[in-house]
Amino acid sequence: MISDVFCKIIKGELKSDAVYKDDDFLVIKDINPQAPVHLLIIPVKHHFSLEDFMEEGNLELLGKALIIAHKVAHQVGIAEKGYRLIMNEGEYGGKLVPHLHFHLLGGKRLGPKIVK
Ligand code: AMP
Repeated sequence: MISDVFCKIIKGELKSDAVYKDDDFLVIKDINPQAPVHLLIIPVKHHFSLEDFMEEGNLELLGKALIIAHKVAHQVGIAEKGYRLIMNEGEYGGKLVPHLHFHLLGGKRLGPKIVK
């Protein structure tokens, strides 16, 4: 049974600061924020990677992740000034938590580079 930190949060075994939840996605505040607003959009069902997610044919859910990013950006007040949506994958991408997730960052003018 896979139980990464996000699975534990989804199961209610670990606390989180949630800003949005439905049957498919949970959106929480990142515990180590890199911007005034730093949220994580997490599929409820465990998928290690985008690869796994796509293999199961979750195209609709992938679209829904973007719809939720847009919706939550409005909800938390970063839509007007702008934001950044990121996914880290694999060793070179710097992924730490082995459960597919997207970072939604905003609340300040972000640096001009996304790679350093
Ligand atoms: P990454 O896997 O590199 O895309 O990033 C994982 C993110 O999860 C990091 O930004 C962490 O700060 C965040 N994180 C790890 N554990 C928790 C937690 N318990 N609650 C909220 N965010 C977390």
